[in-house]
Amino acid sequence: MEETVKLKIETERTKTELAILYEISNAMRTTLKLDEILYIILTGVTAHAGLGFNRAVLFLVNEKDNLVEGKMGIGPEDGVEANRIWKQIEQEKMDLEDLISAYKVAKNILETGFNRQLRTLRFPLSDKNQNLLALVVLEGMPLHLNRETLQNYRQSPLISMLEAEELVLVPLKAKDKVNGIIVADNFINKKPISKDDLRMLIMLANQAGLAIENSQLYEKTVMRAHSDSLTELWNHGYFQYLLYSELEKAKAINAGLSLILLDIDDFKVYNDKLGHQAGDSILKDLALLLKNQSRKMDQVCRYGGEEFTIILPQADKNEAFMIAERLRQDIVKSHFVHEEILPQNRLTVSIGISSYPADGTTPSELIHSCDKALYQAKQKGKNTTCSAS
Ligand code: GH3
Ligand code: MG
Ligand code: MG
Repeated sequence: MEETVKLKIETERTKTELAILYEISNAMRTTLKLDEILYIILTGVTAHAGLGFNRAVLFLVNEKDNLVEGKMGIGPEDGVEANRIWKQIEQEKMDLEDLISAYKVAKNILETGFNRQLRTLRFPLSDKNQNLLALVVLEGMPLHLNRETLQNYRQSPLISMLEAEELVLVPLKAKDKVNGIIVADNFINKKPISKDDLRMLIMLANQAGLAIENSQLYEKTVMRAHSDSLTELWNHGYFQYLLYSELEKAKAINAGLSLILLDIDDFKVYNDKLGHQAGDSILKDLALLLKNQSRKMDQVCRYGGEEFTIILPQADKNEAFMIAERLRQDIVKSHFVHEEILPQNRLTVSIGISSYPADGTTPSELIHSCDKALYQAKQKGKNTTCSAS
């Protein structure tokens, strides 16, 4: 009789577990956006309707730089907040799906101090003796640490940030490669992490690793479709989209916006003397300079041929003029291969600027006034910056 009861309990639990995993993997199939995938994974790990951990953070492997980087964390920062959130979820009867939709409409719910701090965490993968995350990535095995074993890692910035007393680290895998790590704990209610909890997390992690890989492949493809293959800047089509959406943003927050159009002076001479390939190589070098010397929020694009545009959000005419002049002078000072064959013995550019709202309120008006300003700069003798109007 006792055996039957045990079996029954076991079957019920397996059923619940399967239902939870099924729901989470279904949710992961609703999007290809990486941040949404990560949010769904972490919600699955932390929701009461999911695996029910108090807190979970996710790291992704950055193969290019041989690092693991903090990406996203979910969990209340303290007991008071935990009670508030958990009560709200209970009262509003929010299930996994509701929690996930809440994120899709208000992504800023993750702009917490905890998340900002987490995103600064980066650990080299070169030394698995020094850090826990590297160990999990390189061994590809889960780790379950308790109060005692955690002592060995007291120095780790991750452990000191989490102040955990017991925690699990589980690798996310796509095919045979580890592409991330989930770290989870119960730092609020101190509920011991059971073997079943860990087993569920490992099953979820296997699904999650594949979902992350798919989404990264998708995002790469999208990026490639929007980029210019020679310079790796945004291409003309994406520039049009960016200008439209940045302009909408500027209107919504009542901010300014400026546009820079930049054209290389006498570039035909360079091509005619040294060939198209040498010209292409200059375009690449110039693109890199523009990218490196502009602000983080600016969008640098290849407008076409040897013309570049830069969208400057929140920049009025004066600021834009200063930015443009700085770029122009940087270009004058920089060395470009065989620039001495050009009429001025160096590579120079002419720049036109237009600003919202003074010079136009639609993308095409702004482009038109910018083009006119560039024409003026050429008329004035090149190697100069002109503002519209
Ligand atoms: P200006 O000072 O008036 O701008 O003179 P320019 O010779 O630069 O003339 P324009 O701006 O009309 O530039 C056209 C030349 O730029 C033609 C061609 O030699 C070169 N060019 C345009 N697109 C490319 C490209 O993709 N690769 C290379 N290598 N050269 C290009
Ligand atoms: Mg041109
Ligand atoms: Mg030119």
